[in-house]
Amino acid sequence: MSIVAERMNRILPSQTIAITQKARQLKAEGKDIISLSAGEPDFDTPDFIKQAAIEALAKGETRYTDVAGTSAVRQAVADRLNADFGLDYRKEEICVSTGGKQVIYNALMASLNAGDEVIIPAPAWVSYPDIVRLADGVPVIVQTSPENGFRLTAEQLRGAITERTKWFMINSPCNPTGAAYSEQELRALTDVLLDYPDIWIFADDIYAKLIYDGRVSKTIVQVEPRLRDRTVTMNGVSKAYAMTGWRIGFSAAPEAFTKQLIKLQSQSTSNPCSIAQAATVAAMSGPQNCVSEMREVYQTRRDLVVSRLSQVDGLECGRPDGAFYAFVSVRSLIGKKTSTGRKIASCEDFVTSLLEETGVAAVHGAAFLTPGYFRVSYATSTELLEEACRRIKRFCESLS
Ligand code: GLU
Repeated sequence: MSIVAERMNRILPSQTIAITQKARQLKAEGKDIISLSAGEPDFDTPDFIKQAAIEALAKGETRYTDVAGTSAVRQAVADRLNADFGLDYRKEEICVSTGGKQVIYNALMASLNAGDEVIIPAPAWVSYPDIVRLADGVPVIVQTSPENGFRLTAEQLRGAITERTKWFMINSPCNPTGAAYSEQELRALTDVLLDYPDIWIFADDIYAKLIYDGRVSKTIVQVEPRLRDRTVTMNGVSKAYAMTGWRIGFSAAPEAFTKQLIKLQSQSTSNPCSIAQAATVAAMSGPQNCVSEMREVYQTRRDLVVSRLSQVDGLECGRPDGAFYAFVSVRSLIGKKTSTGRKIASCEDFVTSLLEETGVAAVHGAAFLTPGYFRVSYATSTELLEEACRRIKRFCESLS
């Protein structure tokens, strides 16, 4: 009898994390690696946030807190959601968790019965389908098209709904495409959802503050308050405040469902790190100009990467609205060979050869459920991005 549970065969290790780990290891071995694989800001956490953590440590805030987070952090989150999106949540409707990933895990584990379906527009973040499978659910993947800017249409949503549909997941701006839904585009989707009162909505807003060209992110409940009693709105500090390692994500959801999330969390991690909670209070309630400063830098980097990669023969690169990724088509390079004779039969072969022959780490589109592409993260310095783009260009041009 195998020690490994059957459910483990339903999932793969996270590809974003596996490739980033591989790049880290190659770097440690002294190789000249530029990692564009991790979805992680290269900025340091702003000083006033670190200071709040240092003070919390000095004050001895080193014990368990309420499972869902301290009253202070839940209130600070509720206030921030109100300031940023006009959302009106009480702190009893907020659950603070160990990263956005735990929020997703909590929500799906607390709700899915075997065979329940979750609609996921693709390209999608690597972990969505696997968390659904771990929770005994069935991911229903709906491919969006580059012609629609990788946005799901109302017709596509309606067409994917069955009587087993339990959730619709939406991620705007999207990892990996950077596509953000306008209010009007969200409205088209919420109009469909109003027709199906049993379907819940999971709004992953983790990149909501990282949106460019003067656009403003909208979230589902803001656009359609009638969906408030069946929506989980997720956000966190990792991306917008450069706080990935602190592991803080949070949900805003109706109190009865929030109680279920807390019940589950009480049997897994209990509260998220107490010091990280104190830092989150500072991030949520302190000055927000750190976010806009980082956003401006990301926008410049986006422009750089898009303009460089668009000039490379064989690549097609749209203009992302937000997040810090470019999702680049390599479809016209599939079938070619590298100068060392390796065949590029898939986007996975492309990123493997790119890493081994040029030292640039990126993630293949198939990991995001959309083969034929690769994702680069531009959350890294201009110098490294310029060098990475040069290497990618040279590599693509060397294919025959
Ligand atoms: N969300 C980030 C990414 O897509 C971090 C790694 C992960 O958890 O997937 O790269």
